[in-house]
Amino acid sequence: MNALTGCLGFFLILILLVYAWPLLLILALIVLVYQIYAVIYFKGEKFGAIKETIQNHIRDCNDLNDHIEELKNTALVVNRIDYGEAAYHDNSRWNVKRDALKKRVYAPYIYECSRTVCDNARKEPFKYICKYFGIKADEETLGKFETALNDFSAAEDGKVALKAERAAILESISADIPWAIKKFSQKKLEKNLGFEEVDFSTLYFPKYEFKYTSAGGNTGTTYDIVMDIDNLNRFVVYLSEKIKFSKSVAGQRALMTSKLRQHIKERDHYTCRHCGVSTADEPHLLLEIDHIVPVSKGGLTTEDNLQTLCWRCNRSKSNKTV
Ligand SMILES: [Zn+2]
Repeated sequence: MNALTGCLGFFLILILLVYAWPLLLILALIVLVYQIYAVIYFKGEKFGAIKETIQNHIRDCNDLNDHIEELKNTALVVNRIDYGEAAYHDNSRWNVKRDALKKRVYAPYIYECSRTVCDNARKEPFKYICKYFGIKADEETLGKFETALNDFSAAEDGKVALKAERAAILESISADIPWAIKKFSQKKLEKNLGFEEVDFSTLYFPKYEFKYTSAGGNTGTTYDIVMDIDNLNRFVVYLSEKIKFSKSVAGQRALMTSKLRQHIKERDHYTCRHCGVSTADEPHLLLEIDHIVPVSKGGLTTEDNLQTLCWRCNRSKSNKTV
């Protein structure tokens, strides 16, 4: 049957080539002419002028993109000991595939375990993450996870803001861009305007993995816990419940959760406390929450030590303190 359809397809293409080649030629010519037109258009004066008018907006967008990439690089806590590396040799005489055994290597976020541990981790993920990834329920660890939650939340908010801002910029020049360019060369248009490529994926959320491989290496199960915004919020609450805070901190401190972030933004009327710009001025402005006295200098997460900053001010503040 497959051979028959293959033959039919081949003859169909042959007939098309014999009888419809003038049509194909015209089509190829149209495509070629359009490509040349697009190249000339993007190098032309008219396009250059349009680009010039929105140059500052594009630069701002690209800066925000860089900022989001920096935020994404926040690392989660793993306190596992490095036990070194060993080479694996399969000496079995039989031709048995043991790919899963061959692949076993040390990775900080992967824990190789028994089937029982894997199943239990599935039932109580947070408890098992703490136990097997060496995460101590103390004030320092909690602080690190709160920072991660704060950075990832800002990156997520930033992606929404960036998407909307780019769309608004493209919309503002839409009337001046020829229809064909918008229709057929959207990607090239964005590139020629100077927009950087944007990664809107959510793959950067770290995950802890429990992995069971059978003795023979032929079967196994994996269970992973992706530390997305929801899980990070819940993990921060979980850790705080486990911690016995020191006397000086007990009772004074709030948890830096998404709820608190939202509360601080509302309290500050969605306005940057440094430069005064607000979401009323810039609808797609990314606002972040900042510790006035940094945590590293003993600042606490209390409402009077938190403020709303726009991403530009927050970025220049953190660049100064580093
Ligand atoms: Zn600002």
